[in-house]
Amino acid sequence: MDFASHFQSQLDALKAEGNYRTFADLERRCGAFPRANRHGDTVEEVTVWCSNDYLGMGQHPEVVASMIETVRACGTGAGGTRNIGGNSVQHRALEAELADLHGKEAALLFTSGYVSNWAALSTLGARIPNAVILSDEKNHASMIEGVRHSRADKVIWKHNDWRDLDRKLNAVGDRPKIVAFESVYSMDGDIAPIREIVEVCEAHGALSYIDEVHAVGMYGDHGGGVSEREGLAHRIDVIEGTLGKAFGCVGGYITGTAALVDFVRSFASGFIFTTALPPAVAAAATTSIRHLKVSGEERARQKANVAKVRARLDRAGIPHMANESHIIPVMIGDPVKCRMISDILMADWGIYVQPINYPTVPKGTERLRITPGPHHTDADIDHLIAALTALWSRCAISHAVA
Ligand code: PLP
Repeated sequence: MDFASHFQSQLDALKAEGNYRTFADLERRCGAFPRANRHGDTVEEVTVWCSNDYLGMGQHPEVVASMIETVRACGTGAGGTRNIGGNSVQHRALEAELADLHGKEAALLFTSGYVSNWAALSTLGARIPNAVILSDEKNHASMIEGVRHSRADKVIWKHNDWRDLDRKLNAVGDRPKIVAFESVYSMDGDIAPIREIVEVCEAHGALSYIDEVHAVGMYGDHGGGVSEREGLAHRIDVIEGTLGKAFGCVGGYITGTAALVDFVRSFASGFIFTTALPPAVAAAATTSIRHLKVSGEERARQKANVAKVRARLDRAGIPHMANESHIIPVMIGDPVKCRMISDILMADWGIYVQPINYPTVPKGTERLRITPGPHHTDADIDHLIAALTALWSRCAISHAVA
């Protein structure tokens, strides 16, 4: 086989349809976020409008200090898997903090949210005899891969449609059932009807598994996610989350009963056979979680900025998908236009919003995904709206708002 020409032809096809991905070379500047340097032919300052460091915790002085202090005290890497030399007091403290955050008996850390979904779902699906996994049709790739890898039977239910879930659970009959869904869906920003889904799960004796990756730190009085806000955390069997978004670090986790967590700890290859997170990351994440448990300030400022941006988009006649979350999808509906608008925003306005194209979203629903944070100023918002308004009239964009 001519490998090189195979690779090239696949890449050429991606480029032809406008779905070839290019990265912005950013240099984040601690203390200046959402400002960053963007490296190209020259180095330019940009304002980042698409970060998942939703609350700016990646530069919070206490979080930064905690990471630095722990690196100084313990060095950089963990030195091994959790089982062989890599377990540290920082991991234990973080797991205790996470269990407490979600009101669960135990928590287990993974190297990312992706790995936590992949490892937990694949282990549960593979090791619960005769299990069926019922997965929301819009679940994240990490859950889809976990389900696939489990080789358990899979049933897809209509997005957020708990009645469809109910019907499908009925049809499954008397087998162990695992229901996997998200709270905040990352690309449309919609929030699942968690109460109804939980009630359906309870009625069928199904194990409920929620991905709160885009909600932890952000919702609930202590940042425990939408399940905390709705008072439902104690009725959900597994709450999964990330340390890489609102908590400003990296890593993922599940929380649940001590038995379930020990089961995944003992059987999940994605947990067992990989180097543990650096202790300094664990320490910084613990500091971040502790801070957001007691401080509502970042959440409040972020919510206010989200509301301001939405209102200003409305006034400017720029269509965005309605939802109740902090994610503002401005619909473009064409991959080439989406990339072009993003490029112009960067080059002419110093605004960085990454184009979101297939396969992250279905073809025809390409978008700019805007995530206002607590550190964007009113002047930043004015500038963003001015830029989008100018571009909107210039490009005569065909709107594809769902
Ligand atoms: N789950 C959802 C819904 C996500 O959107 C993502 C990533 O964006 C993940 C899981 C993976 O989390 P992480 O970025 O920590 O790997």
